Amino acid sequence: MARLAVYPGSFDPIHDGHVDVIERAAKLFDTLIVAVFVNVGKTPRFSAEERLFLVRESTKHIPNIIVEQSEDLLVRYAQKRGAEAIVRGLRAVLDFDYEFQIALMNKKMAPELETVFILTGEKYSYLSSTLVKELASYHADISTLVPAAVAGALNDKFHGNRGSV
Ligand code: ADP
Repeated sequence: MARLAVYPGSFDPIHDGHVDVIERAAKLFDTLIVAVFVNVGKTPRFSAEERLFLVRESTKHIPNIIVEQSEDLLVRYAQKRGAEAIVRGLRAVLDFDYEFQIALMNKKMAPELETVFILTGEKYSYLSSTLVKELASYHADISTLVPAAVAGALNDKFHGNRGSV
């Protein structure tokens, strides 16, 4: 049977650390679904449509992935899609408590689903969507931190034009 995994996130917006996790996780499974979640607890800077578009643009080079949006509970969504694993990225100690709690809760709700952690690439360990947005708002050069489509979108969002960031 084909091995399917889900990589969920807000991706507000997707950055090079996410793309690195996606590229590596895609090698471990037949198909990786990157799921853009509409999280009630968060107010995103980019709309769900924008986030979905940017994830698609940034992952076009990876053949075995599907990009979708979901508003469902993660484990329910993963079960409906027939996934056997949930992929999450781990940066530093900072992520651990939160990810540990979510993974255990998900395991309690869906014991057949495994959470697989991909350790961040060394050069992305400091990278977060929040930091990228903050830098972009100050006109800092973010071109080495995010895919080209995202750099353009951030520039549009914060400065309303598409010049050099
Ligand atoms: P969420 O809102 O669900 O935390 P994010 O879009 O912030 O979603 O992140 C999605 C996943 O990617 C999370 O597992 C997060 O820990 C991971 N992640 C975020 N930034 C990085 C990074 N620089 N390196 C590796 N994983 C990362």
